[in-house]
Amino acid sequence: MQHNPWHRALEQLKSAATHTKLHPLVLARLAAPDRVVTVSLHIRMDDGTIRTFTGFRSQHNNILGPYKGGLRYHHAVDMDEVQALSFWMTMKNAVVNVPFGGGKGGIIVDPKQLSSGELERLSRAFIRAIAPIIGPHVDVPAPDVNTTPQIMSWMVDEYSAIVGASSPAVITGKPIAAGGSEGRTEATGYGGGYVLKAHLERINKNPKDMTVAIQGLGNVGSYLAKTLIQGGMRVVAVADSKSGIHIPGGITDIDALIKAKEVHGSLIEAMRSLNLTGTVMSPAAVLELPVAVVAPAALENAITAENASRIQAPIILELANGPTTREADTILNQKGTTVIPDILANAGGVATSYFEWYQNVHNETWTKDKVLTDLERLMRAAYADVVRVHQSHAVSLRDAAFIVALERLNVTAAEV
Ligand code: NAD
Repeated sequence: MQHNPWHRALEQLKSAATHTKLHPLVLARLAAPDRVVTVSLHIRMDDGTIRTFTGFRSQHNNILGPYKGGLRYHHAVDMDEVQALSFWMTMKNAVVNVPFGGGKGGIIVDPKQLSSGELERLSRAFIRAIAPIIGPHVDVPAPDVNTTPQIMSWMVDEYSAIVGASSPAVITGKPIAAGGSEGRTEATGYGGGYVLKAHLERINKNPKDMTVAIQGLGNVGSYLAKTLIQGGMRVVAVADSKSGIHIPGGITDIDALIKAKEVHGSLIEAMRSLNLTGTVMSPAAVLELPVAVVAPAALENAITAENASRIQAPIILELANGPTTREADTILNQKGTTVIPDILANAGGVATSYFEWYQNVHNETWTKDKVLTDLERLMRAAYADVVRVHQSHAVSLRDAAFIVALERLNVTAAEV
């Protein structure tokens, strides 16, 4: 109950709402999703049996535009989690000022237990079940945990067959050949890097003096590492779900490390095979290293009341969704730690999804250079907006990000 994400979302809303004059109707709308559907998906398995899976789609809010947010395939998906994630999407899209509302969905399934054919049948069945409530200008799903560009491609194909017209803008995160955007893969990690760069410029820190520890070396963590190293920072520790490694001299080639991990099966063996000098630790321990920046880029609830007081880094860059519990947030605020919040730091992914949707709707194809240049401009503008409120209202960056979002939602609602 303590870490129920929907309760946490409501507390964050309540806290931010005390700092801004929110129209009561807007507050009421944000405190409950517009629509949550539960669907039952009956799938023929490869052995001929029928299995029933449960899926959800939460359409939290569409004040600013079509509902927008990913689809998660995980055994622990539930309605509270999906609702909370859809709420954070409403806030995230408002912070980075893209014309989307918030949505999220998922299926209770461990996709690693399914064959490719079973996964395709399940994904197509899900789209058939939610087709009446999605559409390029209604609700635009995307990938999330354990869903891939290939899965998005099946879904677009199924939706296009249902409506009888090619409809790439109904889903983002597609393979490039199926209408996806250049730069989408890098976008979340790079976007976090752009925000950190803007922050260091504001506090007058030289990136070359900054050491960084990253927890999670998947899509987000690896591209974050790449852009920070390119920017001159020293990434001295990384962790995946099995182990953490601390390389005080800094990792210079993150691609080589990831490749060596694939070949040798673990980060520890990868470190040894590349002759890097360092120590091995638990994945949680990298968060507690004496570095300038810690970036949780793995799962929810990585920083709790239990470990918050041991975090030494003065800056936390939240790349995962919901990595810090409310209790931990209070401890970090009291310690004077700067937390760059998830709804700002990891919004680069959805911002680039907006670029993908825009290209599909307008039948355009942008270069990677244009996508990343526009992304940096958008992330820097969002950071500047949040800092303005942080200073004018004397609140944390997290509360400031929520206030920026609420004010955008409030203005739009007042106009309609
Ligand atoms: P991913 O599956 O590609 O990678 C996750 C990484 O975390 C893997 O390296 C895994 O080994 C590691 N990990 C898992 N448990 C861990 C633990 N206990 N300690 C240390 N490492 C652990 O996922 P991703 O796409 O990189 O997403 C990471 C986080 O970022 C998630 O919270 C996701 O919701 C969030 N996010 C992702 C995007 C995106 O565009 N991919 C956008 C916004 C937010």
